[in-house]
Amino acid sequence: MQRHPKRKIERQKEAIRSDCFDLARDVRILSRSDFSAQVGLSKATASAIAQEFLQAGLLREIGRGDSRGGRRPMLLEFMPGARFAIGIVEGRLAWEGVRTNLDGEIVQRARAPLRGRGPTDCADVAVRLVEELRSGVVPGSILGIGIGGPGQIDTNTRSLKATPSLGRTEDYPLGAMIEARVGLPVFLVNAGRVGALGEYYRGVGRGMDCLVFVALGELGLVAGIVLKGKLYSGASSLSGELGHVTVAGEPLCYCGNRGCLERLVSGDAILAQVREKLRARPESPLSQRLGGDLQRLNLPLVAESAKENEPVVSDVIATVADTLAIGLGNLIDLLNPQVVVIGGPVGTLFGESLVSPLRNATRRRTLSPAFNAVRIETAQLGADAQLIGAATLVLQSAQIASVLR
Ligand SMILES: [Zn+2]
Repeated sequence: MQRHPKRKIERQKEAIRSDCFDLARDVRILSRSDFSAQVGLSKATASAIAQEFLQAGLLREIGRGDSRGGRRPMLLEFMPGARFAIGIVEGRLAWEGVRTNLDGEIVQRARAPLRGRGPTDCADVAVRLVEELRSGVVPGSILGIGIGGPGQIDTNTRSLKATPSLGRTEDYPLGAMIEARVGLPVFLVNAGRVGALGEYYRGVGRGMDCLVFVALGELGLVAGIVLKGKLYSGASSLSGELGHVTVAGEPLCYCGNRGCLERLVSGDAILAQVREKLRARPESPLSQRLGGDLQRLNLPLVAESAKENEPVVSDVIATVADTLAIGLGNLIDLLNPQVVVIGGPVGTLFGESLVSPLRNATRRRTLSPAFNAVRIETAQLGADAQLIGAATLVLQSAQIASVLR
């Protein structure tokens, strides 16, 4: 993301700094000559960057190592707690936030209820979380804020796109609004898609060339695609709109098309299908448990019943898995990924009770060499995949050099 035009020489300096930062974070203990040898820098430049990192507290000297023919080199240790990032993820009723260290490890959590569904409510709740997560932290040690926001988002302008169904009649510059209020750099991506970065950096997909994260929510479905270490954005930040892939003739979707995948497999669709089946099966254990009041049915209860193999719920989950497999099979045939991670609030809630039938159904919908090459897994980081992914928007190497001070 290039938010401000920069001179070429500055961009080159940032690229070198970010390579040095990556090296230090990966190897943990190194010498000045490792910077020159492994990043390909002159001794003077390597030494200057090491000095800059030492002064910033990102490295500390821990004594001399073994000689490789000359003077014994001073060893430098990477200090993950020297700076922090804040990651924030939107939710239907409340937004959650974390403060992570430079390794993306969570050191603090916060939660704030959403007071309304409008764009200014989003800005307000994010600012409240930032204020809580940075109170008591040394001023200047927070590098920036990564936000997984609601709905369609323009990553370049850091704006929420107009979405009438979410009460947004025009684009809203959420990133700039929050940045102005908190005085820190803000990065903004759709909340489902950031999960891909979390699982790529700290979860099941570490170091893989092609990872797909499928975020299944109460209302929607979106996929984040990481290609060669970068979240793939597309021409207008809309890559991975898996929820609006057409898989049937009905029902009508708010996007204007019919038969969109998310209308058939999201949390609300699962609830509606279970309710319909229970209406016809008042004798089932789940109906009895609800005392016949189907309005008391909620997703945690459905997920619990799925884990206990309650037949009514298992039937619905099998249908949902079959339908989701159409979209997933197409995605696997198009991208040939190494791993597909099923996460998001609903994906995490159901876990293996959804992923296991999904694996079987996807096998029937995918070219077998592509299916044999892919692992379909539940999110290793669970609900934290998206929170850590949001913080990673700040911590990933492309950004780090421009926000290090
Ligand atoms: Zn749609």
